Amino acid sequence: ARGGPLGPSFVLPEGFRDTRAALIERFPALRTGIGEVLSDMERIATGLGVLSRGRAAFDDPLAGLSALLKLGPVVSGWRGSLSERLQRAFGEDEAAKCALAANVLYWHDNPDTLWWILFAVAQGGYIASGSRYIQGGSQRLSNALARALRTAGGELVLHRRVTEILLDANGLPIGVAHEGKGGGRAEARGRVIVSNAAPAAVASMLPQTKRQAFSAPYAERPLSISLFSATFGIAQRPAEFGMAAYSTMLLPEWMRTLRDYRRGAAILAELPGEALPPIAVVNYSAIDSGLGGPPFPVSVVGADRLANWQDLDAASYEEKRDRWAKALVAGLDRVYPGFAGSVVSSVFSTASSISSYLNAPDGAVYGFAPTPPTGPIWQGSGRSPRTPVDRLFLASSYAGSGGYTGAILAGATAARHVLAALPVSKK
Ligand SMILES: Cc1cc2nc3c(=O)[nH]c(=O)nc-3n(C[C@H](O)[C@H](O)[C@H](O)COP(=O)(O)OP(=O)(O)OC[C@H]3O[C@@H](n4cnc5c(N)ncnc54)[C@H](O)[C@@H]3O)c2cc1C
Repeated sequence: ARGGPLGPSFVLPEGFRDTRAALIERFPALRTGIGEVLSDMERIATGLGVLSRGRAAFDDPLAGLSALLKLGPVVSGWRGSLSERLQRAFGEDEAAKCALAANVLYWHDNPDTLWWILFAVAQGGYIASGSRYIQGGSQRLSNALARALRTAGGELVLHRRVTEILLDANGLPIGVAHEGKGGGRAEARGRVIVSNAAPAAVASMLPQTKRQAFSAPYAERPLSISLFSATFGIAQRPAEFGMAAYSTMLLPEWMRTLRDYRRGAAILAELPGEALPPIAVVNYSAIDSGLGGPPFPVSVVGADRLANWQDLDAASYEEKRDRWAKALVAGLDRVYPGFAGSVVSSVFSTASSISSYLNAPDGAVYGFAPTPPTGPIWQGSGRSPRTPVDRLFLASSYAGSGGYTGAILAGATAARHVLAALPVSKK
């Protein structure tokens, strides 16, 4: 991370010991706060890891007990926000807050309403064991999952939009109706439905009489942020321009506090001017990504809102998108001189692309906003694959948390619910 309150680059290392040492070296006066906050994160990340193995952890009472004891910081910080916890650890030192949480955009754009426990688990996981990239790109994961489904005797139907969830007289699912781009309604039968679409989209597939009851548990939940994303093809290796890391958070000069992240998405409401939003820059050739090159892909991601791109005719939308792509290239060239001259291709997606391409309400990319739970700790996070319609489950980030890890964990939890709802006969 670099820029903004942080100034010169700070590299967040892998491993809690190295992270502690790097933060203390950069912020020696905050030694106590750094020790405390990292210790909380480590206990939360590893403790919840044990608990998330589910009942199995409690089958061994000692493992269950020690996991619960480790979770002392969860109990005390259950409804806290990231801002509150960092304020306690670092006071007014915004540089230290940015050093530990510059990639806050991976979850939310407002540290005041980002649930501290979720941040501790997710960022604690990154610190404990690094992040992972699917070699060759995420399509390979989709392909592998498709192969596994087919091998198990499943059938995949692609490029179809589910329009209806069909229920029997008892209100239990019996299948879905779907259609292609040019129409052509078809039905698929099944006693369990698992959906990755947003609850708002699922509601519109249900019979009118079921919609209100289905939507009730989600009514008060704000949606997560959306993102814009620009992917550039670069003729030279980005390392030649000094872009050495896989992921760099570039904080603009106008940023004074970590909280200023809140202002990032609004900047794209206008045509580009002086100010750029805070952005994540990813250089895939810094790791063994399997993406090859030249051109070497570099992607730039920042918070966005559907409202930034609505009410524009096609020509104005294209022009605004094009001008923002150029502004980002110019901004990157100031930090990495030579970058602009090396760009050979560019693709820019907005909150509007995400909304239309993924049928995501408001272009939300992480499901519901990761705000602190409103209930007590024994009620859990309030997220679940279960819905008010029996045998209709969510398997997306709406049932857990955002990102690939959140979506995959929610899918695994949904699978357990499905097996419980519909026991598979063992041959
Ligand atoms: C630019 C960008 C970069 C990101 N980078 C990362 C990253 O590096 N690491 C990370 O962990 N996360 C990243 N994320 C976030 C991550 O992609 C999402 O949080 C995650 O994919 C959410 O999974 P999901 O299953 O909830 O939703 P989605 O992945 O949106 O899946 C929902 C699916 O439902 C389908 N659908 C909707 N309606 C219907 C319907 N009526 N009929 C049939 N199908 C329907 C959609 O087509 C879509 O395929 C990134 C997101 C963006 C936009």
